[in-house]
Order: sequence, then C-alpha cells, then structure tokens
Amino acid sequence: IVKMQGMNKYFGKLHVLKDINLTVETGEVVVIIGASGSGKSTLIRCVNGLEGFESGKLEVDGHPLEPSRSNQKSLNEIRKEVGMVFQQFNLFPHLTVKKNIMLAPMKVKNESQVVANGTAERLLQRVGIADQANKYPSHLSGGQQQRVAIARALAMEPRLMLFDEPTSALDPEMIGEVLDVMRELAKEGMTMMVVTHEMGFAREVADRVIYIHEGQIVEEGKPEDVFDNPQNERTQSFLSRVL
Ligand code: ATP
Ligand code: MG
Repeated sequence: IVKMQGMNKYFGKLHVLKDINLTVETGEVVVIIGASGSGKSTLIRCVNGLEGFESGKLEVDGHPLEPSRSNQKSLNEIRKEVGMVFQQFNLFPHLTVKKNIMLAPMKVKNESQVVANGTAERLLQRVGIADQANKYPSHLSGGQQQRVAIARALAMEPRLMLFDEPTSALDPEMIGEVLDVMRELAKEGMTMMVVTHEMGFAREVADRVIYIHEGQIVEEGKPEDVFDNPQNERTQSFLSRVL
C-alpha cells in the first residue's frame, strides 16, 4: 500500500531522508524507531503529503506522489485514505467529542448527520469512551483525548493509519489504554505505520521494525530479530540506551 523508492528529502541544506526504500503491504504493522531528530516524523509525514520530498518515488494505495507534492489529485485521494494521529491530539477545542468525529465524514464525504452520528457513536464505543460523547476535549484526560483522535481518524474509514508518537505526551498511567486501542486495530487487520518509543508494543504488535539513523534506514526486520539480534552497531547502541 506504500512504496517509497530512493526517496530523498531536504530541509534547506539538511539532508533529512536519505535514499529511503520502504514498502508497506496491506495489513502490515510497521514500527519505526530511532533517536530524536533521525527523521521518523518526516518520513511518515511524507506518506500523507504533509511534507514534500526532493527526489525519488512515492506511491500510496496506487496514487503516485511526485517530488514537491505537485500532484494535487493524488494528494486529495491520499488524504482521504490515510488517517493520522499525532503526539498532540489536535482535536478541535470548540467542538464536542462527537462533533469532532462527525466533522470530516460530513464535510469531505458528504455523509448525512444521521449516518455520521451513528458512526461516531459506534467508534466511541469501540475506543471505550461512549460516555464522553458530548463533552469538550479540554474536559477529557489525555488518554481519552487521544482515543478521540484515533476514533476521528477511523471515521474516514482509512486504508492506512499513521501514528507519530501517540503516547509520548501522555501521563504514564494513560499510555496503556491508547496502546490497547492500537493493538485492537492491528488485530483487526488495519495497516499501520507507527513511530513510537514503546518498545514493548513494537515487539508485540509490529510485523516489522525499522530503525532509522540520521535519515537512513540502517536496520529492518522482524521485531525479535531487530531487538534480540541487531546487526548494525548503531541499532545496538540505540537499543542499549532505550531497552
Ligand atoms: P523526534 O524523535 O524528536 O520526534 P524525529 O526522528 O521525528 O525526531 P524529525 O522531526 O523528522 O525527527 O526531524 C528530522 C530532522 O529534520 C531534525 O534535524 C529536525 O530538526 C529537522 N526538521 C524537522 N522539521 C523541520 C522543518 N519544518 N524545517 C527545518 N528542519 C526541520
Ligand atoms: Mg518526531
């Protein structure tokens, strides 16, 4: 569903992504790990066109994205098919939880209020906060807000979900409830690209773990191989610091 070939990205002179080759198959869960500043966020932001790139090829669910994001048609299609969840939940503060979830399906997919309402209620049930539907985001805990953000992304029926450190802004006691929702999603077969420092989650849920160092994929494999038997010395030293 995602194909990156020889992708390079710069911020001015800074070469942030270096010759990235990465394929994600439908149904796969790919976890991306690496030190701060290594390019993890930039990599997944390229997938839904939040960032452009300078050279190489990128295709998402059959829609080609050209360097510099010039293909607006692909970009629109990709945005409809790819959900994203950020570290900061980015909910609309002036809308209730339920309206946050209903907004995009009504605006982008022209869903009726009744249909969007039904979907929102079902999704809130699924992420375990049906009782919070009519509250405003600021009245929810961080873990609850992040589950709303996940429900909001799911309301668009994405083919692919991107997560950028979804639990990094949460108090420790709330991390588990968000990881549980993500684990369920993975079990149901959702295709996911996840940037996280939760190595336990990566080990348990990932089909593949990718380690990025200074904009390059230096190691990639099954979680047990990457965690228990890393081949690259950069990976070894990173893991010895975080595990
Ligand atoms: P972290 O773990 O801290 O989130 P990361 O691996 O997600 O780090 P990126 O955010 O992708 O790293 O950043 C990669 C590099 O690109 C960093 O050196 C960062 O300073 C730089 N960078 C990121 N966004 C921009 C931007 N909009 N303009 C200029 N430089 C940027
Ligand atoms: Mg980041």
